[in-house]
Amino acid sequence: MRVELVERLIARAVAGGASAVEVFAPATGVKFADLPQSSVADVEDAFATARAAQQEWAARPVAERAAVFRRFHDLVLAEQSQILDIVQTETGKARSHAFDEVGDVAVNARYYAKVAKSLLASRRRNGVIPGLTQVSEERLPKGVVAVISPWNYPLALSASDALPAIIAGNAVISRPDNQTALTTLWANEVAERAGLPRGVWQVVLGRGASVGTELISRADYVDYTGSTATGRKVASQAAERLIGYSLELGGKNPLLVLDDADIAKSAKGAVRAAFSSAGQLCESMERIYVHTDIYDEWVAAFVAEVEKMKLGADLAFNSDMGSLTFDRQLTTVSAHVEEARAKGATVLAGGKARPDLGPYFYEPTVLADVTPGMAVYRDETFGPVVSVYRATSDDDAVAQANDTSYGLNASVWTRNVGRGRAVAARLRSGAVNINEGFIAAWGSVDAPSGGLGDSGTGRRHGADGILKYTDSQTIAVQRLLPIAPLPGMSDETWAATMTLAFRAMRLVGLK
Ligand code: NAD
Repeated sequence: MRVELVERLIARAVAGGASAVEVFAPATGVKFADLPQSSVADVEDAFATARAAQQEWAARPVAERAAVFRRFHDLVLAEQSQILDIVQTETGKARSHAFDEVGDVAVNARYYAKVAKSLLASRRRNGVIPGLTQVSEERLPKGVVAVISPWNYPLALSASDALPAIIAGNAVISRPDNQTALTTLWANEVAERAGLPRGVWQVVLGRGASVGTELISRADYVDYTGSTATGRKVASQAAERLIGYSLELGGKNPLLVLDDADIAKSAKGAVRAAFSSAGQLCESMERIYVHTDIYDEWVAAFVAEVEKMKLGADLAFNSDMGSLTFDRQLTTVSAHVEEARAKGATVLAGGKARPDLGPYFYEPTVLADVTPGMAVYRDETFGPVVSVYRATSDDDAVAQANDTSYGLNASVWTRNVGRGRAVAARLRSGAVNINEGFIAAWGSVDAPSGGLGDSGTGRRHGADGILKYTDSQTIAVQRLLPIAPLPGMSDETWAATMTLAFRAMRLVGLK
């Protein structure tokens, strides 16, 4: 990455009060930035700026706010080669997986720019006394929203979560992961070029436990994406302050191959579902349940597809899977595979690190004979490791798939969509993709996306994905007569009159 670009992006951050951290490209081990860190004073400055900017921004019509993100959409698509380079450098992922993030931002920007006006519009509600009480439901922006995002999908999980908050009239302060901060800063720069006034969206830098905590102690709402363990801490800090939060957390997602599935198609689909961004994807498949009648044939087809995968993270569309992002990911992945192997699992493909390609590369790995005593059976690996299991029936596949505390994403492969829907309805999962791994549900942003159980609370996408950044306000206007006894009327007569009125309203179907 060019030094001038790095310096220009870093200069955008509200940071400088604390000492810098060095950031290295995972695929090569080469340092590309000394990233300044935000002090408490920097965070305070960011909030003071945000509070002033938010008032002015919220006063603008929704259509004007939305128009900024139509231009943002166009700029991101037009200048994608630069952000693809940045995302790849920061994460080590393959270019095609970085492009998924560009697509995500385009889809979300277009969607919210289109629907925000109607979702945020004042809505008439039924009054308690029809005709006399006129009620409307308004949507007020929360104020200043903190978006704390991880490193695995740095463009999608910072920009796509910030933009509905901003269109709803909030100011946003983003805290990206240090590893992937330049991506967020790039999106922030593009948003300002698209017309977003300075101060409406700012970026602070630092570790979650320090700067993240400082943000949550001042924000009016927190949008957090990361692990379940950290999500619990964020929730308790937000609960202390009685502010709202949305938590997008971990997963241990199941993919079910029913006995009528198209074997070639589902094997290819399972590769996309398990190894996008080297499995460092919350929606990634880590468990595959294959009907026993087709198990041998399916597993052979799947392993053949996995063995064809080309590893690399050069800045071109020529590899199928990139590197892991951190040393600690490599440690977890190796530990899960080694423990499983030691306890009797069979490695059908992969199963080893590839230091010849870069410091954190690990082969796409398929395990069989995995049992409940192995960490890989239940714990999220968050890497390119997937286990295959036999299922004797749809019921058995559903029971095994639901044997988890998580519930983020699931996938069902069948030629019979009706059967697929029936299986989907029984899966405890926030999303179920039929004949696709994750991107059908994830990319369909008109529908909500989020987890059950340990996978989180709150939703992104759809109406929920913007309304969560607002508070409802009810305005009721009482006309002509008060809701009280008329002059000279006793309380008892008033009660009897109202009783008659309630019965009449029930009979005529009024509220
Ligand atoms: P992590 O929880 O360790 O860190 C995630 C982010 O939270 C980091 O940037 C970190 O700096 C920050 N953080 C840490 N402590 C914090 C605190 N006390 N307050 C505020 N922020 C804090 O998770 P990780 O292992 O780095 O990230 C991967 C996890 O994220 C996986 O479990 C994955 O499934 C999950 N994830 C979920 C989604 C989703 O949409 N559901 C998307 C991507 C990743």
